[in-house]
Amino acid sequence: MVIKDLVAKGIFEQSGYIAPELNCAIKMDANENPFTIQEPLRKKLLEEISRVDLNRYPAAGAPELRERFAKYYGVNKNMIMMGNGSDELIQILCMTLKGKIKGVLVPVPTFSMYKIIAVNTGNKVVEVPLDKKFDLDIDAITGKIQDNFPAMVFLSFPNSPTGNFFSRKKIEAIINKTPGVVVIDEAYASFSGRSMLSLVKKYDNVIFLNTLSKLGMASIRLGFLIGNKDIIAQLDKVRLPYNINSLSQTAANFFLDYQDEFSKQIVEITKRREELYQGLKEIAGIKPYPSRANFIFFSCSFDSNRIYNKLVAEGIIVKNLNIPPLMSNCMRVTVGNKKENETFLKALKSATPK
Ligand SMILES: *Cc1c(COP(=O)(O)O)cnc(C)c1O
Repeated sequence: MVIKDLVAKGIFEQSGYIAPELNCAIKMDANENPFTIQEPLRKKLLEEISRVDLNRYPAAGAPELRERFAKYYGVNKNMIMMGNGSDELIQILCMTLKGKIKGVLVPVPTFSMYKIIAVNTGNKVVEVPLDKKFDLDIDAITGKIQDNFPAMVFLSFPNSPTGNFFSRKKIEAIINKTPGVVVIDEAYASFSGRSMLSLVKKYDNVIFLNTLSKLGMASIRLGFLIGNKDIIAQLDKVRLPYNINSLSQTAANFFLDYQDEFSKQIVEITKRREELYQGLKEIAGIKPYPSRANFIFFSCSFDSNRIYNKLVAEGIIVKNLNIPPLMSNCMRVTVGNKKENETFLKALKSATPK
């Protein structure tokens, strides 16, 4: 048996997503919320979870969550679909919306899962570099758009790892030009004070994606998608019936019940982000970029791999993005709590060459 002959070519040739298995005390690599749920809320959540009938299948399609999120966003519940993380929704989109040329367009750098999932589901991927300000290069993108291509354009708003917004005018230009669907992924929008959700109501080829992963509930794997109900009806055929387990549905309902608590954390994180940005600016050889998200992208004027290893040795993990030519010696650090940010800044400062 030759494995290579059995595996789809695109899958065999790509390396997949690498989630590091490092045991670091300070985790600032995955853009999680640094705050855990405190008593008495923690007890309340456990009580609700203890009432779940583990012998039963979960409610198919998570109807209660669909209804609640639909109400929150002011859309009809047939315009919303829940996923096992937004990663699953990206996968369902890539399995369902193929177009004639089976192609996906992504700006780069952006969230790496778009490409990985698109390739794994048999799509061709066209990557278009962002301009110098990390905004969309509209001429290059429209140059790639043909009659039946691409079936989808993925845009992260704000973008990861760069942390900035794309301009609304450019986003709308792409929506108007593309023969397919534009997916606007707002995983970080809660930290930015802005949303492009209104575009879903204005255009029938826009799909909005969001997730609880960056807001304090990464463990439960809950994402959701809002868009044209006729597209959702097709996506729903591909979704596995019980994709959101009962424990996650319970925890997501809890999130909605206590949204004010989570919102306070978001306000706190955005405040800490500005402190972290100032701290990074003060370190010689480090250039941070302004961020609208819960992380900061920065470049180093020296070898970032060495810095990364020194930070890991201190028990701090960040995302090393030393990927030339677009991101030479770049890193992304998640905004942590006050103590984590201070520890990180101190360690970074002492890791930089004198
Ligand atoms: C983290 C992230 C996601 C993935 O979210 P999950 O719901 O955890 O699968 C999607 N898009 C972007 C841009 C992200 O950064």
